[in-house]
Amino acid sequence: MREILHIQGGQCGNQIGAKFWEVVCAEHGIDSTGRYDGDSELQLERINVYYNEASCGRYVPRAVLMDLEPGTMDSLRSGPYGQIFRPDNFVFGQSGAGNNWAKGHYTEGAELIDSVLDVVRKEAENCDCLQGFQVCHSLGGGTGSGMGTLLISKIREEYPDRMMLTFSVFPSPKVSDTVVEPYNATLSVHQLVENADECMVLDNEALYDICFRTLKLTTPSFGDLNHLISATMSGVTCCLRFPGQLNSDLRKLAVNLIPFPRLHFFMVGFAPLTSRGSQQYRALSVPELTQQMWDSKNMMCAADPRHGRYLTASAMFRGKMSTKEVDEQMINVQNKNSSYFVEWIPNNVKSTVCDIPPTGLKMASTFIGNSTSIQEMFRRVSEQFTAMFRRKAFLHWYTGEGMDEMEFTEAESNMNDLVSEYQQYQDATADEEGDYYEDEEEEPQEN
Ligand code: GDP
Repeated sequence: MREILHIQGGQCGNQIGAKFWEVVCAEHGIDSTGRYDGDSELQLERINVYYNEASCGRYVPRAVLMDLEPGTMDSLRSGPYGQIFRPDNFVFGQSGAGNNWAKGHYTEGAELIDSVLDVVRKEAENCDCLQGFQVCHSLGGGTGSGMGTLLISKIREEYPDRMMLTFSVFPSPKVSDTVVEPYNATLSVHQLVENADECMVLDNEALYDICFRTLKLTTPSFGDLNHLISATMSGVTCCLRFPGQLNSDLRKLAVNLIPFPRLHFFMVGFAPLTSRGSQQYRALSVPELTQQMWDSKNMMCAADPRHGRYLTASAMFRGKMSTKEVDEQMINVQNKNSSYFVEWIPNNVKSTVCDIPPTGLKMASTFIGNSTSIQEMFRRVSEQFTAMFRRKAFLHWYTGEGMDEMEFTEAESNMNDLVSEYQQYQDATADEEGDYYEDEEEEPQEN
């Protein structure tokens, strides 16, 4: 068995994590008390990836929940699946992080981190052969962001050969409550570049736009955004949870998608997009699913793939459909859009079909792309960061917790380097002999 240990931290991390478990429990036929009441043996075949089997026959999520204040976890505990978690795996403080990354990473969070690591260690010891960790958090606040990345670096130290996957929610002024979010996000990206193996980017800017433009919700709530997130998380993890060949564990996913180690931030697309509680009127055909899944309007990241090129991509179709038709449609997309795929990685798009559709849909598809256009999102955050940092605005909140200004400078340049690296590979072409060179004339502009 190759187990995954799930960790959720902070308000956002706990809210999206709770939704993830609701969706996954429903797909695997696990009720809110942890009992199996499903109808297909496929639901249990790989259940041990995400659940421990307790002696009484109940399935308990292999989940650790952390926060620096009790509020979110209290409401989670009294929510629909609140009783399914192991009570000892709730680790929380009382101080709060006040949207301050430094409090999460260096002061308040650092005080609580050992209690979290104790629970993590206990879960890890229970595993037959742990494949890795997945962390749900936001990057804009203090706890999920600061303490989340502290935990990631501690885990990397203790389990250097295990995989680290993150579901990271990027901040957007369209949704956020505080001005310092670009600081917190940039400091986090600096950590994720070094210490995470694969990051699924969930960008509140794109989620808001999907709710507003496509789903016609005039004032999208976190519940609406999180509905999109949980559908995406279910799609991304379906290859890990159900039997199949493609991307069947975290390492295989990484091997297929990451040509250069720092470039491990993925755009995720989902089709069909639905709002909370809405019914889908008709099942989509394979060509429709394929078309929508590649569409920039269906991406959970505010970047347009047509402004860059795909290094690699994977597509997961779910439901009863013809594998042959899926293969044809996927080849079709690539042939028609060949200039959007780097030619120096042949066969860089993989696809697979999983028989079990998400609950409530007949068919769906999820797309994971490693696109150089993701630099657009990093540029957005970087511009917001630089506007404030140039004047050292709000810096005292961070230096007051003992942080050095230098760490801001380093985080800023690390993220800018990341942007340049994406640009470099966007411009790289293969010449006729098959030797690769970079196009000198299209160096990234200084901004
Ligand atoms: P923390 O508790 O200190 O980790 O702080 P938060 O998780 O509240 O971080 C604030 C950031 O997360 C902001 O960018 C918010 O817009 C975002 N956020 C908070 N809750 C949610 C949520 O439930 N869903 C989504 N999509 N974003 C959230």
